[in-house]
Amino acid sequence: MKTRKFTTYLLLASLTATMLAGCGKTTTDTTIELTMAPTSSETTMPTETTPETSTFTTYTLEEYKSAGVNELNSVPILMYHRVYGMTNAETEYTGGNVDKDGYNRTSEAFEADLRSYYAMGYRMMRLNDYVDGYIDVPFGYSPLILTFDDGIRDVVLQGWNGDGSPIFDPTCAIGILEKIKAEYPDYNVTATFFVNSTLFGNSTEDDHKVMKWMVDNGYDIGNHTYDHVKLGGCSADEIEKQVGSMYKLLDSIIPDQYVRIIALPYGSPESMSADKPQYEKILSGTYDGFTYTTKAALLCAWTRSYSPFVRDYNNTAIRRIRGYDNNGKEWDIKMNFDQLNDGKRFISDGDPNTIVFPEADNASGTWLKNTFGHQVITY
Ligand SMILES: [Zn+2]
Repeated sequence: MKTRKFTTYLLLASLTATMLAGCGKTTTDTTIELTMAPTSSETTMPTETTPETSTFTTYTLEEYKSAGVNELNSVPILMYHRVYGMTNAETEYTGGNVDKDGYNRTSEAFEADLRSYYAMGYRMMRLNDYVDGYIDVPFGYSPLILTFDDGIRDVVLQGWNGDGSPIFDPTCAIGILEKIKAEYPDYNVTATFFVNSTLFGNSTEDDHKVMKWMVDNGYDIGNHTYDHVKLGGCSADEIEKQVGSMYKLLDSIIPDQYVRIIALPYGSPESMSADKPQYEKILSGTYDGFTYTTKAALLCAWTRSYSPFVRDYNNTAIRRIRGYDNNGKEWDIKMNFDQLNDGKRFISDGDPNTIVFPEADNASGTWLKNTFGHQVITY
């Protein structure tokens, strides 16, 4: 895990209640050619000057410009569910979808997804760091965030090594992630798993041991409610029970090592509207003597997320991309990445403590909103 060099964070969480659609959003495709060329630093040599105040390499404005650095652009947060040990030929659906709606993926397709993101110049980072406005991705590369909901088939245990480390089924989500981690050391493989009370669906003791291993090995665990309920239809007491009891369970297994982020089942509610005060229980409450706070909430799907630095970023309604294939339509992976690669993607300056972007992108003076205490540099 990367160590934070600076600790000055000013969380100016936008509570703008942006109305967003949840699962099943089916806006028609606007055809955009796929750009496979990675936007990387390979052709831009960094300037090897390191000021005393930073351990990160600094670059000239010209270097930012030639690499297209833009930290006000969008970030892909992928939403996956189950990964099945199957080839694409074994399903009757498009491109590695296991079900009609594409919520589940074959192991062949999931592995290919990961290789494709890498080839396009994306590097993984922790969702928790994104929420904190701490984007630690190498110069010229773009952040990629992976999330998994429900826990089922994400972790399939085959046993334990002599040193106490788990042996995973190589076709489950974490089995493939570990394989890719070994193959691409510079990919910074990580993911956040949002679980219910059933955890990963294995025997409880095994799941507890795996969860401890996961948080020690670069993965995060978050809250997906105790019983996988639609919070949008719940009373304040029910919300407090569903959210609070799940946090309490996580805290009993991995104390203070889980993330205070919730993936809203069914993407509900879509906004923390002022006329529904019970939704505040998603963000804070006390259940059975356990007091909790939530610092971010994720919607179900459909498209790229805002940079955490811009005006329309809403930490209580963070959008995700559904990890599925639909021939480049209906907000599938290809459609989303075509759009990102067509000038919409966040391209990092290599320093998580500075925010760099073209001056013209904040011409209104209001698009940059949350600086998290970082230094702002424009070109
Ligand atoms: Zn779910």
